[in-house]
Amino acid sequence: MYVILIKYGELTTKKGNRNFFIKKLTENLQHKLKKYDVKIVRDRSRMYLEFLNEDLESIEKIVKNTFGIHKYHLAYMVDTNKEKIEAQLLEIARNSQFKTFKIEVKRSDKSFPISSLEYASFLGGILLKNIEGIKVDVHHPDTTFTVEIRERQSYIYTNSAKAVGGYPVGTQEKGMLMLSGGIDSPVAGYLAMKRGMRLDAVYFEAIPHTSLEARNKVIALTKKLVQYTDYIHLHIVPFTTLQEAIYKNCKPEYCITMMRRMMYRITSQLAQKNKGLVIVNGESIGQVASQTLVSMSVINSVTNMPVIRPVACLDKLEIMDIAKKIDTYDISILPYEDCCTVFVPKHPVIHPRLETCLDMENAFSFDSLIDECVSNTFTLKISDEEKSEYQELL
Ligand code: ATP
Ligand code: MG
Repeated sequence: MYVILIKYGELTTKKGNRNFFIKKLTENLQHKLKKYDVKIVRDRSRMYLEFLNEDLESIEKIVKNTFGIHKYHLAYMVDTNKEKIEAQLLEIARNSQFKTFKIEVKRSDKSFPISSLEYASFLGGILLKNIEGIKVDVHHPDTTFTVEIRERQSYIYTNSAKAVGGYPVGTQEKGMLMLSGGIDSPVAGYLAMKRGMRLDAVYFEAIPHTSLEARNKVIALTKKLVQYTDYIHLHIVPFTTLQEAIYKNCKPEYCITMMRRMMYRITSQLAQKNKGLVIVNGESIGQVASQTLVSMSVINSVTNMPVIRPVACLDKLEIMDIAKKIDTYDISILPYEDCCTVFVPKHPVIHPRLETCLDMENAFSFDSLIDECVSNTFTLKISDEEKSEYQELL
């Protein structure tokens, strides 16, 4: 029987929260594994996923991509019987690539007739006799074979494999991810979920200046993010009238600053409606005119909500690396224009003045257009079910 062994030691968190974290992790795994016949067994320090005739590769992929799991071991469960343990260990070793190894035996069943050290060297002898070109190295082995002997069943496993880490999704409250079709914001969403946050996504579109393909691109990106959670509500904000009003009534070099102030206001209102506590976006310091510290502070001043910028201090290349890893990059680079790119002024202001923004906002009443955006926003529930309404774009 296959077992995936997850040790909580890696769930680095305060002691008092441990049970809460483990409960969330269990719920999240139960949800992701619901179509498989997998038994989840927990004890004080670990979790075991036990399964017999299930697709190991798919289950392992789910485990690898579940936040809250830092490392796991692929283990084999055998009856606690010397011959069976030895045969299984030999089979595992024959299927592994290594030159040097070490065997660790742990006995919780003290009635087992041989001491741990003796049994480890005995098992080592079996491997040396049966597999050519290997030797023992107790200090820096390529592979450590661990044999845990329990009363009825024993576990045999090798080195740990790396999973995504972080905290289980749902151990924090909800954030509103401003999700454009670009490279940065999906990465920001991924990193926010990695800290345990749940997400709603907010997308501003300016049809007919932006296309339905651009919207589909955002849906496809949301579907990628949903792999790390159960579902994401994607709020689509019809932004055209407000955006046109900005371009008609504001100085051209301030249009982006003003547009972003409006986006922050609308996102804050949507957060209040949907129980979001913070805003999350893909701003990166210095990347474009609207992301200088002066721009950020002038834009940010429209809301009291904390704004989390997970990629604020990353280089574009570092962001791109994560985008490739989480498989959003190829969607993000599709050429459909976003509402930010349609109306870019020639010389957007790099050091906007708050007073200038306030003057323009006093001269024209944007409030009713903002309210209209909020009330006309419609929401799609993007879930991780296979037969979801929304097809992937790629
Ligand atoms: P990205 O690659 O994610 O689009 P960017 O480098 O293009 O980011 P901007 O266009 O200046 O940067 O936008 C900065 C952030 O503002 C985005 O990462 C995203 O969080 C948010 N944003 C921009 N445009 C939109 C939009 N149309 N809908 C929702 N959020 C947006
Ligand atoms: Mg963008």
